[in-house]
Amino acid sequence: MGKIPTGIALRGRNIEIEEVTCPLCKTSDETINHLFTSCIVVSRIWHQISIWCKVVSFIVYTVRELLDLHEHIGLRGLAKEISHGIVMISCISIWRTRNGVKFSNSQARVEDIFSEIK
Ligand SMILES: [Zn+2]
Repeated sequence: MGKIPTGIALRGRNIEIEEVTCPLCKTSDETINHLFTSCIVVSRIWHQISIWCKVVSFIVYTVRELLDLHEHIGLRGLAKEISHGIVMISCISIWRTRNGVKFSNSQARVEDIFSEIK
């Protein structure tokens, strides 16, 4: 819905911001879809999660696809609900890590993010 204040989203609101590069990979503009789906750091987290949850590795290109993922990975009942919760918790952890890198100069380590999600 365009509410998450990524670098590109802030610039779109006419807020002066010098740096719009993704704080995690430092290679692409920080859009919402990049930050949660296509960022190389985040892609490695999703891969780790797919192994941990014993589901087929997935590729999504938008946050909408990510939020609907639990409908398409072959799970039912409680497992389906839990998978949706894991995606939501992962997004929060990714956002917290992003903020730590951006505002506190901390590191974005896949192992640390995955450990926090678990
Ligand atoms: Zn990135």
